[in-house]
Amino acid sequence: MNPVIDKLAKILRLEVQRNFDNRAVLGGLQEMARHWQTEALASGLPEESVGAILAGLQGYADLAPGDRAPRLRAVWTRMVEEEKALAHLDPFPSLPDATEAETGPAPEPAGEELALDDGEAQDSAGEPPEEGTETVLPSEPTPREPAPGARRLELTSPLTAVQGIGPKSAKTLNKLGLETLGDLLWFLPRRYDDYSQLKPINRIWYGEEITLIGTVEECRVRPVRDGRMQLIEAVISDGTGAIRVTWFNQPWIANQLRPGRAIVLSGKVDQYLGKLTMSSPEWEPLERQQLHTNRIVPVYPLTAGVTAKWLRRVTDAVVGRLAPRIPDPLPESVRHSANLLPLSSALQQIHFPDSWDQLHNAQHRLAFDEMFMLQLGVLRQKREWSELTGTPMPVTDEWVSQFESALPYSLTNAQRACLGDIRKDLGSARPMNRLLQGDVGSGKTVIAAAAVGMCAAHSGQAALLAPTSILADQHYHTMCDLLPKAAGIEAHKIALLTGGTPEPARAEIRQGLASGSILLVVGTHALLEEPVVFARLGLAIIDEQHRFGVEQRAQIRAKGTSPNLLVMTATPIPRSLALTLYGDLDLSLLDEMPPGRSPVETRVLHPIERSRAYRFALSQLEAGRQAYIIYPLVEESEKVEAKAAVEEAERLQKEVFTAHHLCLLHGRMRVDEKDAVMEDFRARKCDVLVSTSVVEVGLDVPNATVMLVEGANRFGLAQLHQFRGRVGRGEAKSYCLLIPDSDEETENARLRALESSHDGFALAEMDLEQRGPGDFLGTRQSGFSNLRMARLTDIRLIEKARKEALRIFELDPNLSHPDHVLLAKAMETFWTSEKGEMS
Ligand code: ADP
Ligand code: MG
Repeated sequence: MNPVIDKLAKILRLEVQRNFDNRAVLGGLQEMARHWQTEALASGLPEESVGAILAGLQGYADLAPGDRAPRLRAVWTRMVEEEKALAHLDPFPSLPDATEAETGPAPEPAGEELALDDGEAQDSAGEPPEEGTETVLPSEPTPREPAPGARRLELTSPLTAVQGIGPKSAKTLNKLGLETLGDLLWFLPRRYDDYSQLKPINRIWYGEEITLIGTVEECRVRPVRDGRMQLIEAVISDGTGAIRVTWFNQPWIANQLRPGRAIVLSGKVDQYLGKLTMSSPEWEPLERQQLHTNRIVPVYPLTAGVTAKWLRRVTDAVVGRLAPRIPDPLPESVRHSANLLPLSSALQQIHFPDSWDQLHNAQHRLAFDEMFMLQLGVLRQKREWSELTGTPMPVTDEWVSQFESALPYSLTNAQRACLGDIRKDLGSARPMNRLLQGDVGSGKTVIAAAAVGMCAAHSGQAALLAPTSILADQHYHTMCDLLPKAAGIEAHKIALLTGGTPEPARAEIRQGLASGSILLVVGTHALLEEPVVFARLGLAIIDEQHRFGVEQRAQIRAKGTSPNLLVMTATPIPRSLALTLYGDLDLSLLDEMPPGRSPVETRVLHPIERSRAYRFALSQLEAGRQAYIIYPLVEESEKVEAKAAVEEAERLQKEVFTAHHLCLLHGRMRVDEKDAVMEDFRARKCDVLVSTSVVEVGLDVPNATVMLVEGANRFGLAQLHQFRGRVGRGEAKSYCLLIPDSDEETENARLRALESSHDGFALAEMDLEQRGPGDFLGTRQSGFSNLRMARLTDIRLIEKARKEALRIFELDPNLSHPDHVLLAKAMETFWTSEKGEMS
């Protein structure tokens, strides 16, 4: 979460808890807001949002306590727009009536408010519209004809092709990532303001967001605040009544609001000295096509030098001209069966919606497209793989029972089932493409060993990739333990290749792989970089998939001719995600733990109980156990993070664990340094491993029984569950202590799910609901950066798109039918571009 928003959220929540006494922070909310503003702008929060939030806090101290709640609620709503995660932390008691949730009064404008307003830019393009310079544009969805002599606008035209965008404004727009008119067409609003409620003045209410049409009665500018500011004051009437309207420091408005002129105003109804007013409303002349008022108004991401009004005019011009001409890549049959808007209408409605319904239809259409392309791509991928043929490597029932009987334990039912899946895959001529998903400690390694054994039974070679050399090392030892007895692979036919392997040994391994005398090589990334050639690579296994990208999958695959692929992950992926993220793989689930594990006892502590936690850890150390202490990413920068971790480790060593040996692990260390530290911990050369979140994966030190996580509230449940999986790996009872940053009830209630649940899947589902899919996308997967409208949590959309994709795919897998030409082209673009334009 943006730390600046987070900070404000904490203050607001405290204020709610204190029943709005304006004492959550010293000096009151308004005072705090002034400092916050600076930080917020520095953090890159859009000016517009900062402005709106500040406006909401203006004059807070002077409000009657009863009026403070709606005010803060409005501020909160605005913050949620910036930071979706806040939606779940809403501290406000629920309201009986939705209208009450609307913003409270906009404050009497003060100086700081200027920033909130459009703040017409100084750039020529951003200048206030000169009356009459713009022609009245028709609003029908037909393409607007360019003025005679004007260039014809194309998607690929540069921004400057639009009248009104000069080189300077084009440069400013470049900062928003916009280069061409096509970019502008796909530059989607961040949110919408509803100014579609047209009302006569005698029927408006305080606090409402409305649009009214009236005539300017009078308008004047007067200096206020010792002449440091200019207040523009107008009286607008509409035959049913009159209302006073004000703006600050925009003197040009006074020139335009000549008495007698008809205008449209949109904004919130305010109150001043007992009378209704509007401050800084959006406005425009009545005769112009209404862009800024009297409708649902799009709000775009802004950058310095671009005003909301100006950008709206520009997008309107571009959307009006180009959207109707955009061809629709979705086949009519899909559009019909999925009940979707045509693309051109969707684009028009997404920018300038006629109604909320139309907006939702447009969003649905665009989201569908993304998910549909994604699914089609995944299907295509899967088919490409299924068309490959490899050598079938069947094994007999005797082979399997021999393997099982050589193990020091008997397999769980889940392990047997997974082994069965793999045996079937390897036995067929179609190369295996399987994801083996099982919670930490569910026993994936032995399944990998069985697969290696089956492959070796046919003299096939196998490669096992691990994300760190410590894990590679761990796997190497496990394999050397298991394989000779269970699968008759002698230990000398198993090799370990990591970044630390010295050159002579590397050469020997390369040689062994090329000749086929090495049957299994366990390694890290180094294995991919090494110019190794396999004589007969039959199986590639990737452990802890989320640490590897799709490219690595492709790289290791390329070391053989269509080898079998087994991907293993402990990240519990909810079904909706599995369908999309790994839709190209078959799935095997290890949903059962080996017997005899006692669950890790988990406690969420209060920050003041920290010394108790330390004492507890000390008692475990005294009993000969080891402990982990995790610190969250303190700052965005790894450098700051590293420093904080170093300081904290020093403090703990000096003040708490004086008689024990601490070691430290953080993201700024080199790979070999990290490995050395983990090795020390494993070898019990140190008792406490202080670490940032880098320790997360796979480390297996059964003697460690305490996992203490500081700042636990900053992690997702699934990640905390992974941390917890580092302990409880041996016989001894283990403990996980979670210390959040603060005492906030809502946050800590979320964490408490870990006290009662040890089910990684359930926790991941909760995460997905609370925090979105970010946590699952550790490694960027191609295709997924293209999802802008579609949410990976939207299972109904995913299934609908999947159904349609399957139908089209079965009909015309190569998209070679004439009806699918545009679709094929769109797919091409979707899968090769970063932005996902589908035109
Ligand atoms: P993960 O799925 O997290 O990779 P591992 O494969 O490392 O889990 O297994 C965790 C531990 O459980 C190992 O010590 C392994 O020997 C043990 N184990 C695996 N399968 C069984 C089983 N069926 N019965 C008992 N212990 C098992
Ligand atoms: Mg593992």
